Amino acid sequence: MDHRNSIAVARALKPNRPAGIKLTALGGQSEKKRFIGPNCWLETLPDGQQLMFDCGGIIDESDEESTRVPDFRAVNLKKRKLAGIGLSHGHLDHVKGLPALAKLISDDPDSLNYQIPVYGTATTLLVAERQMSAELKRFFDFRLLDNVQQIGDFTVRAYPTIHSIPECVCFVTSACGKDVAYIPDCKWLRSNWSEKARTKKTLTEIATIKDTGLDVALLDSTYATEDGYTPSVVTMEAAFADLLTAEKYRDREFVVLNFASETEFAADLTMIANQVANRPVYCLGSSMRFFFDAFGIIDHQRQSGCTGKPVGVVTGSQYESGSAIDRAINGDNRYLTIGPDKVFVLAAKIIPNNKTRIATMVRKIRSFGAEVITSETNPELHVSGHEKGDGLKEMGDVLVPRVLIPQHSPDFSRQAFCDRFVGSGIQTVMVGDGQSIKF
Ligand SMILES: [Zn+2]
Repeated sequence: MDHRNSIAVARALKPNRPAGIKLTALGGQSEKKRFIGPNCWLETLPDGQQLMFDCGGIIDESDEESTRVPDFRAVNLKKRKLAGIGLSHGHLDHVKGLPALAKLISDDPDSLNYQIPVYGTATTLLVAERQMSAELKRFFDFRLLDNVQQIGDFTVRAYPTIHSIPECVCFVTSACGKDVAYIPDCKWLRSNWSEKARTKKTLTEIATIKDTGLDVALLDSTYATEDGYTPSVVTMEAAFADLLTAEKYRDREFVVLNFASETEFAADLTMIANQVANRPVYCLGSSMRFFFDAFGIIDHQRQSGCTGKPVGVVTGSQYESGSAIDRAINGDNRYLTIGPDKVFVLAAKIIPNNKTRIATMVRKIRSFGAEVITSETNPELHVSGHEKGDGLKEMGDVLVPRVLIPQHSPDFSRQAFCDRFVGSGIQTVMVGDGQSIKF
């Protein structure tokens, strides 16, 4: 038995008086792999005081359940017990549920002057606020996240993690003598040593927050079924460098399809296009433009000297209706036309539910005589922001919580996560949508 293992066993054996805290999954723990989100957890203290971690919506906009948001029934709005909401990052499956929660408050006759504090980093709040009308925004008090803040009776610490969008954090809450780590979407190892150290530093710090260790840790389990480690986004730089400098594509424009919020990818692609391929970059789609501006992705001065054919970064990787590519296919986009002079690159992950309609989109683009390159045939063109199984196991082994809960994925993936910890001395617990654990 290794050192970590013995710590875990000792912790599990030590009498641990329950405090009566409840942790409930309000969304994101779907039974089947049908969509992404809506991620949301709720911690409830014995006196009924509550803290929410993230408040997501469904990303798959074509889904007939596209309005799906977390199940807020466990949230105590009537007694105004919700002390605050902590947002981990600006992806929509973590923030898009806020308008629905505001709507619930606005429909409550008792809600006058009830403002819920919402904590996040500057750019996360920018994205969150963009999701809602001024009318709904007034139910929230958006506050910049500090390293440590007191939210009601919860002491909440925020720590940086690595994902696929900047300013991603995880949280540790301390209340009633219990510590809970909420560690959503993140990666463990990166080829860039300093960023790798950042993740490791964060989890090591969290693990030693008190002598007796963490009581509960929630950990991303999106790719628990896959062996190995997720590479850094920089690994796709070489693939794009080859593509954008290939002689046969010298006189052709590239149009790269991805999620608007994949800002790390966009920044890396822009750097390669400008500095390696001498190509200027533009973006299309209102959400894409929002993220490009918010994260300062294009350095206009730097790319003013780029004389090659441009690279467009556009929305519609899941063939969402109204996206830049959708409008181009319909001949309704004056900034983007499709023809043999362009190469389209589908760099985003294909959400399983969207497979059929993405295939339709690819067929339609090809019917205009344009070439289409997808991440299915060129997997190196897409790098995930989620850690794979072996990395997740290492993360759990560093955290050594009393109870480890996989989150952010369907049943089979969370089960695969738990299987990796069999015999490790760390107790894993599956918590499905609407279910709670008490500790
Ligand atoms: Zn995310």
